[in-house]
Amino acid sequence: MGYCFKHILFYRYGRCPKCLESEVRALPDAAKYQLIGRENALLANPWKLNQDQFGVCGLATPVYLIMRSAKDKARQLFEATFADIIPDFANTKFLTSNYGPQSVKFRYLARGYRLQQRSWEKKQDKRLKQEMKRYEPQLRQVYTTKQELREGRDELRRDIKEQLGQWHGELLVDYCMSRALGYIMKNTAPSRYTGEKINFNSEFSTTQNYREVTRMGHLALRTNNATFVLSELLGAKDVHIAKQKVEASVPLAPPVSGVTETQFETVARLHNLFQTHASGRGSFAMAAIYAGLVNEGSMLIKKSQGDAKFPRLSYNHWVNIEKFDLTTNNVELLIWTWAKFWRVRVDKNVFLSYIQDVIFGHF
Ligand SMILES: [Zn+2]
Repeated sequence: MGYCFKHILFYRYGRCPKCLESEVRALPDAAKYQLIGRENALLANPWKLNQDQFGVCGLATPVYLIMRSAKDKARQLFEATFADIIPDFANTKFLTSNYGPQSVKFRYLARGYRLQQRSWEKKQDKRLKQEMKRYEPQLRQVYTTKQELREGRDELRRDIKEQLGQWHGELLVDYCMSRALGYIMKNTAPSRYTGEKINFNSEFSTTQNYREVTRMGHLALRTNNATFVLSELLGAKDVHIAKQKVEASVPLAPPVSGVTETQFETVARLHNLFQTHASGRGSFAMAAIYAGLVNEGSMLIKKSQGDAKFPRLSYNHWVNIEKFDLTTNNVELLIWTWAKFWRVRVDKNVFLSYIQDVIFGHF
């Protein structure tokens, strides 16, 4: 238990939530014109959406989809997400399809964001110190005077900092809009949300404690809960789940009413489902894949490296499959995730070990 003297309150974890909120509000990237600039950039080029350091692929993908195919909804979600910090949008609510208008508390989003950002900064500081220490003997060999040594260290520090990279502050909008959907889920379907947190998110923690995961802004979703977001919050139509049989290591989330399901056992059947459900305008195919499918550099994947032996949901990553083609030997995909389109070709004999479920629908 911590106590904040400035805000006169006790808090349970990390730092005072009001302090965290005011720190995020003070960030240059939280300025009104920056936020709106990013929103416009995303509306113009939805593929630029980037979940960055956050494990929110099951929420970022739906945000990408509305940015792409339901721009009015995307605008409304943006305004509701930043209603607490952009005065023009004060009291704006997001109109969910099944639960009426819902507001979003910026403090709730800011907390996880800031904790993650600080933890990243601390890690960077640690790596900087390690690197400086590593090169210190060499610096001492090269430079003889104190003045030279000091300048040498400054130069090295700049180089290392550049290599370590920067926090992508401009992605504050991407994160907040994605996580806002999680917040709305918490308020509209509390038992679904709590079940997700406790049953599933602990899979991503080394200590089996879901709090370590969710407090840092992450929120992983299982198929039925991702479907809930698409269908009951965002109003996607004709939602259909294609699923592969799996021995799940965690219980599945409750099904969503009105959503139909098919099980597929072959690549040809899955290809067929894509032709039926993902060909029209505004249609989507949000897929749970094993993240190895889009490893940078591995454009051609011959073998699954044994992923088929790990049918654990915890290896999942949500993406949108823009195109699914089947050739004589391969599956050819165009995938959207992490602010990019990825062309992926996979031997069709091992393809099923890279994919779990696909949620089809359209806006
Ligand atoms: Zn405080």
